[in-house]
Amino acid sequence: MLKAEDKEKVLDQSFRDSVATIDQQGRRKYIHPKKPKGKLYNKRTVASIVYLILFFTLPFIKISGEPFFMINVLERKFIFFGQIFGPQDFFLFALGMLTFMVFIIVFTVVFGRIFCGWACPQTIFMEMVFRKIEYWIDGDAQQQRQLREMPWNAEKIRKRATKIVVFYAIAVLIAHFFMAYLIGMDKVKLYMQEGIPAHFGTFVSLLVFSSVFFFVYYWFREQVCIVVCPYGRLQGVLLDKNSIVVAYDYVRGEPRSKGKKEAAAPAGDCIDCAACVRVCPTGIDIRNGTQLECVNCTACIDACDAIMTSVHKPTGLIRFASEENIREGKKPRINARIIAYSSVLAILVSVLGFLLITRDDVDVTILRASGAVYQKLPDGRLVNIYNIKMANKTRKDIPLTLKLENLNGEIEVIGGALHIGAEGYKTQPFIIRVDPAELKARKNEVRIGVYEGDKKLKTAETHFMGPVK
Ligand code: SF4
Ligand code: SF4
Repeated sequence: MLKAEDKEKVLDQSFRDSVATIDQQGRRKYIHPKKPKGKLYNKRTVASIVYLILFFTLPFIKISGEPFFMINVLERKFIFFGQIFGPQDFFLFALGMLTFMVFIIVFTVVFGRIFCGWACPQTIFMEMVFRKIEYWIDGDAQQQRQLREMPWNAEKIRKRATKIVVFYAIAVLIAHFFMAYLIGMDKVKLYMQEGIPAHFGTFVSLLVFSSVFFFVYYWFREQVCIVVCPYGRLQGVLLDKNSIVVAYDYVRGEPRSKGKKEAAAPAGDCIDCAACVRVCPTGIDIRNGTQLECVNCTACIDACDAIMTSVHKPTGLIRFASEENIREGKKPRINARIIAYSSVLAILVSVLGFLLITRDDVDVTILRASGAVYQKLPDGRLVNIYNIKMANKTRKDIPLTLKLENLNGEIEVIGGALHIGAEGYKTQPFIIRVDPAELKARKNEVRIGVYEGDKKLKTAETHFMGPVK
């Protein structure tokens, strides 16, 4: 067994001089990971099936004729869990984004990059859809390499053509569903029925997105995680020695014992078989320590566990653990740090949830008409003019009435009864008439109840201006 402090002396650090996916000449090195198998891979398969079912069914789910989920950036209409959000809910959106970012940071500090391997759409589609199809068409890693090296012949043309057609077809399908999340499945179906000439711009966008997806899954692949993804690039500052990541137990594994069955010096448990490297979709050797390229897919854990079982040693040479756990030979435990970070998360999520649940169906703002002071009627009463701005976040038309709550007077809505259509925005003027005897000062606070039938929706506050007292 290796003492923790000897690690730096023993481990070869030359891996830091290069990237696994780029050769000495700077060309792309295509990774052909061996097909993973094992307990964690089976769990990931189940998780990805759930994810894919959700991804492909959510656009079909509707509530009162509207999508369950929609992110229509162009029309600034957002629907989450059937609730409609518009520009007036910007603070909720900002709070949601803030919570999401804190969640990402706190979650990563504690649990590392587990999201990447188990929930990120890029990894799910790459490893659980396209990679499986690739194994089906091209065979396992060794056959893929042979196919790559072989000259163009009937078999290579057939396999390449099949892969391109199948990959592109799935890319087109994904692009359609992404569009459904943007504009709703009904519109996607309508556009398809009306044909390309009627929606040529949308068709071109769809073609571009399909081609991007195809490019990513056919060629670019793990480079998204290594080079493009900002979350991946942040790992260096988010992870610390207490973060739980996929890690090699160098204390137990080193020095490696390949061909040293009868070695004089005591050897570690790693038999240097490189099974963990062969299955890695980003081409790294996890035995070199936590690296930016590792997406925590756990394929190396499964591979190493199988090897350990075959050589009758305990599994878990590669496992979920922190650097601290490995150095001290302890199991991951729930510590004060995890509790503190999780509490912060729980508070943020609770606040956001509370604001979402208590969100008003109708937003109402009442402002005095700019520039106007007051007018005196022939009967001596005073008049102020106001504008009411209304935003209806529901799918039904809402008739509204206004009542003065702290003044005796009259409200008269100008331009017909107060009414706001489903998901509509409207501004309408109204006047308040008050007897001057009601006023205590030049500027008087006035509270106006906004009602839908007998149900009070909110109390708006404004002022009534009168003569100097
Ligand atoms: S090192 Fe292991 S967990 Fe990380 S990407 Fe490679 S196979 Fe997946
Ligand atoms: S799979 Fe396990 S035993 Fe084989 S090289 Fe990797 S860490 Fe060592």
